[in-house]
Amino acid sequence: MSPKMLFWVPTLLRLALILLAAMVPGYFFGKTVGLVAALIAVCALVILQLGYLWRLSQWLDNPDSRLSDASGIWTDIFSRLYKLRREDEHNRQQLNEWLTRFRQAMSLLPDGVVIMDDVLFLEWCNAAAEQHLGLSNERDKGMRVTNLIRSPHFIDYLILGRYEQPLTLSLRDRKLIVHIIPFENRRQILVTHDATESERIERMRRDFIANASHELRTPLTVINGFLEIAQADAGLAKETRQAHLKLMVEQGKRMQNLVEDMLALTRLESVEYPLRPEPVRMAALMEQVYQEARALSGGRHEITLEMDGPDISGSLEELRSAFGNLASNAVRYTPDGGRIRLSWRLGEDGPRFAVSDTGIGIRPEHIGRLTERFYRVDKSRSRETRGTGLGLAIVKHVLLRHGAQLDIDSTPGQGSTFTARFPMRSAIVATPQLETSG
Ligand code: ADP
Repeated sequence: MSPKMLFWVPTLLRLALILLAAMVPGYFFGKTVGLVAALIAVCALVILQLGYLWRLSQWLDNPDSRLSDASGIWTDIFSRLYKLRREDEHNRQQLNEWLTRFRQAMSLLPDGVVIMDDVLFLEWCNAAAEQHLGLSNERDKGMRVTNLIRSPHFIDYLILGRYEQPLTLSLRDRKLIVHIIPFENRRQILVTHDATESERIERMRRDFIANASHELRTPLTVINGFLEIAQADAGLAKETRQAHLKLMVEQGKRMQNLVEDMLALTRLESVEYPLRPEPVRMAALMEQVYQEARALSGGRHEITLEMDGPDISGSLEELRSAFGNLASNAVRYTPDGGRIRLSWRLGEDGPRFAVSDTGIGIRPEHIGRLTERFYRVDKSRSRETRGTGLGLAIVKHVLLRHGAQLDIDSTPGQGSTFTARFPMRSAIVATPQLETSG
């Protein structure tokens, strides 16, 4: 007999007792007494069963309470119900844990996720969707999404229901790519991707190509113009031809400078060219930058050099290019007779290179944009002085690679100071040389 069948034994015994209760008194005291005795036994049995049913109904009202002990088949029923209840609790707990984990994972997603019901009421959204769309899961739950996101483009997109193509939406200073995915029973998932940064990079790339093409086109047009003249008129006067050749060489040089600066910038930005630091002898580097500035000035400015800082660890080539650009800008943007001071010092927070000039200065609204590629305050002045418009962008990248930063302090009409601040860790502490006797 299976263990479950055993639970039926007391119940079957009780039924047997009822039969006995009907038969024994019936045998001794007649049929009527037997029937009455059997009726009383049946009533007692029914009352017992009703008692168990009542306990069961009490427990169903409050399933967290304990089911009291029973006997017979009720023991089996109660214990099975109790087991089911415990399993149910366990499943519910697991489901809750899973839901919590799912929500945590969703809240870490960089993309926004909004779940809407069949009539576009908000059911749930994650943290990224709250940020992208200005929603609040707590506050807006149960509200119609079209009342929460009041963009005509978005509403049209929802109404037309052509979801094969994503929607590009400008919302709250962001560029969002919105996808809608219908799922079970006309519910919809709305996914938002923030494309602001990639859009900015794409715009920068487009601007860079447009600017570079424009910058290259101007000297090319000049060179082609002169070449056409030379081709059409073989009998040009020698002086005119010389003048044309001089201008063509100048324009060729300009194109070369531009291409070299563009290649330098590409290298500086590329992960394939990581910085390979080496000890840089600053005295020699500063002397070179100073001599180059003097050569460029050709005696038109009073240029001084202060050298009081340590050697550093960095790339000699890159530092020469960055410091050279800052020094050449000072010469190019300072009228004749002005003063330029180059210095290398050890400040409280680290070594710094500074170039101060008494030049034309820069208005405050331009300062934040000077390190953008091809940004110039005065285009014609930059071109006159053979500027490519990429010098400060190169400086910025070189300094970034050295963990340094550029400070610009300028007063229009009075002059500017460009300071490159290096971290203290880049300074090389001089080790005392051991004296050797020969
Ligand atoms: P450019 O080749 O035009 O000089 P840069 O990137 O070196 O390009 O500089 C960007 C712009 O910053 C310049 O066009 C100029 O307007 C301004 N600038 C840079 N240095 C100075 C300076 N020392 N004094 C005044 N303006 C400056």
